[in-house]
Amino acid sequence: MARVVVIGAGLGGLAAAARLAALGHAVTVCEQAGRVGGKLGVLERDGFVFDTGPSLLTLPAVYRDLFLATGSPLEATLQLVPVDPVTHYRFADGTVVDVPNASRSRIAAAWENALGPGAGADWTAFSERAGAIWDATREVFLESPLQGPRTLLGQARRVRDLRTVAPWLSLRDLGAQYLRHPHQRTFLDRYATYTGSDPRRAPAALATVPYVEQTFGAWYVPGGLRRLADAVLARAVERGVVVRTHADVAEIALDAAGRRAVGVRLTSGEHLPADVVVANADAAHVYADLLPPRAAPRALAGLRRATPSLSGFVLLLALRGRTPGLAHHTVLFAGDYDDEFDSVFGTGPHRRTGPRPVPDPTVYVSAPDDPALRPDADSEGWFVLVNAPRNGAGGVDWDAPGLREAYADRVLAVMAARGLDVRDRLLWREVRTPADLERATRSPGGSIYGTSSNGVRAAFLRPANRSPVDGLFLVGGSSHPGGGIPLVGLSAAIVAGLVGPA
Ligand SMILES: Cc1cc2nc3c(=O)[nH]c(=O)nc-3n(C[C@H](O)[C@H](O)[C@H](O)COP(=O)(O)OP(=O)(O)OC[C@H]3O[C@@H](n4cnc5c(N)ncnc54)[C@H](O)[C@@H]3O)c2cc1C
Repeated sequence: MARVVVIGAGLGGLAAAARLAALGHAVTVCEQAGRVGGKLGVLERDGFVFDTGPSLLTLPAVYRDLFLATGSPLEATLQLVPVDPVTHYRFADGTVVDVPNASRSRIAAAWENALGPGAGADWTAFSERAGAIWDATREVFLESPLQGPRTLLGQARRVRDLRTVAPWLSLRDLGAQYLRHPHQRTFLDRYATYTGSDPRRAPAALATVPYVEQTFGAWYVPGGLRRLADAVLARAVERGVVVRTHADVAEIALDAAGRRAVGVRLTSGEHLPADVVVANADAAHVYADLLPPRAAPRALAGLRRATPSLSGFVLLLALRGRTPGLAHHTVLFAGDYDDEFDSVFGTGPHRRTGPRPVPDPTVYVSAPDDPALRPDADSEGWFVLVNAPRNGAGGVDWDAPGLREAYADRVLAVMAARGLDVRDRLLWREVRTPADLERATRSPGGSIYGTSSNGVRAAFLRPANRSPVDGLFLVGGSSHPGGGIPLVGLSAAIVAGLVGPA
């Protein structure tokens, strides 16, 4: 039995803790914040309940596997309900499409109705290619520890796999091969943002993101997605994990040779000895702040070479009255998507001036019709998210006086111009900027997904789960295989496999 200390009680940290406890280890989780869950946050005020982070659950099999590996099945603890339609999309010219949940034929029919003959077949052909990419990459990449480019290519079973995955193509390029209608290409572009990336530079392999959503379904947790974090916490505690909040880790303690992790030191001065340390904190924070620079210089250099992922600007809107016919998820596309990515990453026309808040952003609204989230039947809460540059260096100073409220007004005006004007129904609003996310979760710059997938080498610049320091492992959205609820769960399974049973 090893003594394990997990730094951070995000979903990745909690999932790893539950798995390691089930393998027989003595596990303590140290979370700097006052509550667990990390980016799976919640805001409760005046009878309204808001998820402040995720609003869409995909690939629930990852969590079914976690619950089975640690005790009773997921469904014994948590109800999952499919969302249908998954999302109502509105393009800049007014075209709308409601994308149904997990039915190839209904999805094709929805595209045909919205865009005309051929659009359904185009999307189906694209999905078949995406399915082939999923088959070629799931086991060797997503479910295995990252071993570096050479090993990965060696693991690719056939040359045909390589041609299928086409690592030399961007997601945008792959879309252009299959999708004739510009609206479908815009729709595909959006999935790059699910890894915090730019579709013009992110790899074609991200075609698996819509494939997974449309094949294994889009899900909601009644009461809010936050309940998933609560359920994983409960499972971890059942298995004997000790979870400490307000336990801020100041450094990872190393042995005299500086090679092996031997515990952590809290900001209070307390030392917790450990045989294994699992860091769920953002990898950039781990390598830059929690370890001495000489401990893992190459990992730190890799992180500095990569482009950080984008952040998000969030509005939580408490609204009087209900909106008839409102979908669970709505996306209002901007007319110029490239300008959105150039604004967020400071590329193209903004290369010299740098990133800026997107003036005319694509807007995402999540408005679950869930009585548990509203004070009465005549009100509703909306979570509104737009892509945003990260905070601080290489991004925008989101704490600049006046910016948060001025930009919140701007987003509400953009929504109004696109047909969703709720300004006269507003009871109150809460604004969460990238700077707020950075403060709450210690994700440098408020980057949601650690490093982005921008560039051919991005997957290999992402920190591996086994760190160069003996006994130190990385779990969560900033390490391999990436961010988002499903991948974070996969990273916990990989780390548990690397540590092994007691
Ligand atoms: C606005 C938003 C919308 C999103 N939407 C979706 C979605 O719809 N679907 C989806 O699948 N994903 C979504 N995501 C992404 C998803 O939330 C994350 O990928 C996932 O929750 C990350 O979990 P994690 O465990 O890796 O990290 P985190 O949740 O960041 O947890 C890390 C934890 O470590 C703690 N910590 C850091 N440093 C220290 C320290 N020194 N000492 C102690 N503790 C420390 C932090 O406080 C934090 O609790 C969204 C994220 C955001 C922010």
